Amino acid sequence: MEKRFVYADNSATTKISKSVLDAMMPYLTEAYGNPSSIYKLGRDSKRAIENAREKCAAALGCTPSEIYFTGGGSESDNWAVTGTARKLAASGKKHIITTAVEHHAILHTCAALEKEGFEVTYLPVDSEGKISLTELENAIRPDTALVSIMYANNEIGVINPISEIGKICRKKGVLFHTDAVQAVGNVPINVVEQSIDMLSLSGHKIHAQKGVGILYIRKGVNLPNLINGGGQERSKRAGTENVPAIVGLGVALENAVSDIPGKIEKVSKMRDKLIDGLLKIERTRLNGSRTDRLCGNVNISVEGVEGESLLLSLDLKGICASSGSACTSGSLDPSHVLLALGLPHEVAHGSLRLSISDETTDEDIDYILEVVPEVVERLRAMSPLWERIKKGE
Ligand SMILES: *Cc1c(COP(=O)(O)O)cnc(C)c1O
Repeated sequence: MEKRFVYADNSATTKISKSVLDAMMPYLTEAYGNPSSIYKLGRDSKRAIENAREKCAAALGCTPSEIYFTGGGSESDNWAVTGTARKLAASGKKHIITTAVEHHAILHTCAALEKEGFEVTYLPVDSEGKISLTELENAIRPDTALVSIMYANNEIGVINPISEIGKICRKKGVLFHTDAVQAVGNVPINVVEQSIDMLSLSGHKIHAQKGVGILYIRKGVNLPNLINGGGQERSKRAGTENVPAIVGLGVALENAVSDIPGKIEKVSKMRDKLIDGLLKIERTRLNGSRTDRLCGNVNISVEGVEGESLLLSLDLKGICASSGSACTSGSLDPSHVLLALGLPHEVAHGSLRLSISDETTDEDIDYILEVVPEVVERLRAMSPLWERIKKGE
């Protein structure tokens, strides 16, 4: 097969879609008014933001006044966790519950709060990447301020039972935040029906631009201001709004929820073909639940190869993918998510994440299925580790 370019890293970021860019364009050019200005040019920008807010509220099942535009998923996560912690600490609640497999935007925020004297319970996951609801319920204490559990995992694609978690938190009177960055557009979300108090999402994971996101904050949950200054975002996140990015996010979110069942059907077929094809390579395993899984996520461990070598070889073949090893960030530690599943270090190192989208084609899948086995075979042929594995050492 001829060399092609295949983008299979949609969990890292996505391409801006044409409809999003088209909607943004006027606000990057002639419609540059400050939304706080009273003349028409300013009022037009203001109206564009409020229009985007309405689209976002409709997509999540909340009211526009519960949508706060932020600078992305990490910012939303930080605000939800730190804001709740600071607020409830005043009433003696200094305990937070989260999971061992959250995004670092949550884990590192929790670690920072631990240094300030908060106590954090990190719920473990089983070998499929699932938490236990009984364990969650038992972990909630009278001094628990917040439960923060991701909707779907960015590495292994596992989808959590958010409605059940929401129910447990409501029953126990504890606030519930979910990082839904990977879930949006892949599972139907309704913050009211699912008893979600706060929800984070990010624009660049759903075909909008980088550096814009949302924190949904249920009416009645009063978080401290994130940025003090002007009256933007009901004075909670001050600073002149990123109008083009917000307008684009409104369209992207509207697009993302427009046909979720259709997307799931189309993309999960390609995902399953990928999984089945890749598991034919000897000594590979699928990481994360096969059933409760994002329609676009494939994560396999390939024994006897280094994740980073695999990625570089795939890059030479035009395939963009990612790995559970964090070598690229200057550390040799394998992913905390794969380790939490109980994978040994060396297996966690050789993992490959392919995240496809509804723009992926059958030809892309066939190309990946042709290239990956070849590359694995070549790398294993050079690997002393593979020699030892084969000898059963
Ligand atoms: C990408 C991602 C984030 C961070 O979002 P940014 O907009 O890049 O800050 C947070 N949580 C999860 C699960 C993610 O996948």
